[in-house]
Amino acid sequence: MPFHRTEGAKLDIAKLGAVTELCINTVRKADLKNLVGLHQLPLEHLELRWLSAPDLRDMPFPPSLISLRIWHSSKLKSLDGIGELPNLKTLELRENGQPLDISAISQLENLEELSIEGGYGAGQRIVSLFPLQNMKITTLVLSAIDGKELDLEPVARMSSLRTADIAPLNFEHVELAKVAAAKPWFFEALMDLETAKDGFAKRCAKCGDRKKMLFLRKKKWLWCEVCESKGLQRNLDYFRDLVAAAAETERSV
Ligand SMILES: [Zn+2]
Repeated sequence: MPFHRTEGAKLDIAKLGAVTELCINTVRKADLKNLVGLHQLPLEHLELRWLSAPDLRDMPFPPSLISLRIWHSSKLKSLDGIGELPNLKTLELRENGQPLDISAISQLENLEELSIEGGYGAGQRIVSLFPLQNMKITTLVLSAIDGKELDLEPVARMSSLRTADIAPLNFEHVELAKVAAAKPWFFEALMDLETAKDGFAKRCAKCGDRKKMLFLRKKKWLWCEVCESKGLQRNLDYFRDLVAAAAETERSV
């Protein structure tokens, strides 16, 4: 798989030859003319970093693309123009514009893996996850998302979804409960509390046990399963009740 990395200003499509993987760093408005002919390349993987465009209307994506990564593009606020890309299986979006409108993703009928990630700051805002609800995506990553106002119902409705890496602290409990009610594997993964490793968190001062990491609390997120079992249980019961209520709502719709 011949790989080529370049900058938008230096891109010369005529000289790329049989490249199947291309990474373009820095695509300014003035560089767009260099992308003419890109859609005719037999590209399977494309990465765009520091793309200076509000949407993808001027991007001539090759229909042969299997995976696409767009990152560190703070001006990009909409995926409009992404096209139909019938072969695209994997789409990675990381640290793009705020908020990001992902509506155009619904045109990617054969997409299997979608990853949307923010950076270390406030988190990636997404206009709505609604465009995902009828898609055949099997693997979803939502990491470092500003999800305070985001409805996860469309994720709960994604019938092909088999794995979801959703950072729980980024979302409201009732929203997590919607996904947990629809996907038993997601519920079980949440309830299977991870043990905090030494060096990462202090052990319980009373009994010396390693603490459990609770996905529901930002401040008090470390709990001793032995000494704080009642409080921990109360939190887990509270979430179980939310999931039961979400399942009830779903049944009555
Ligand atoms: Zn303890």
